[in-house]
Amino acid sequence: MDHPDVLDRLDRVASPEACPALVLNADYTPLSYFPLSLWGWQDAIKAVFLERVDVVALYDREIRSPSFAMRLPSVVALRQYVKPSTNPAFTRFNLFLRDRFTCQYCGSREDLTFDHVIPRARGGRTTWLNVTTACAPCNLRKGGRTPAEAQMFPRQRPFQPTSHQLQENGRAFPPHHCHETWRDFLYWDVELDP
Ligand SMILES: [Zn+2]
Repeated sequence: MDHPDVLDRLDRVASPEACPALVLNADYTPLSYFPLSLWGWQDAIKAVFLERVDVVALYDREIRSPSFAMRLPSVVALRQYVKPSTNPAFTRFNLFLRDRFTCQYCGSREDLTFDHVIPRARGGRTTWLNVTTACAPCNLRKGGRTPAEAQMFPRQRPFQPTSHQLQENGRAFPPHHCHETWRDFLYWDVELDP
């Protein structure tokens, strides 16, 4: 089934922006927890036509053209397993995610910045192992000092996370919007962990 003309027409006749599809890997776990892997309905339907995904659950909402009607997928699963990269990129976002968006000195979740645990002026490098999440006041207070000098020690020693660890942390952040059919695939049970 490939019907680009149908898709073009569907683009015109329906605009259900509020109907994203949750994208699962071939093992039926979300491709990404945070941000949650979601596709717009057009991409989801194209992937169905291209047989790249299986439809797992549907919205009640239907899109129609004169010759065609279809309920929008609410959950799709990739047919080919995508292996997560084991070494996630060293990015701002991933660093915050590793540290659960929490200042590693005082626990604040506001006004977050980065702190070089060993200051750059003292030879500290910008790597997973030397950068931690700090709120602006803590960052200012610590200044150019080492942890021992400032008597400020990060709660968690900076480490190189795996993609799995980042995904696990991402599970702590439920999406604002969550369709009922997604719930079976999202286990927001972090609070229940011992
Ligand atoms: Zn702080």
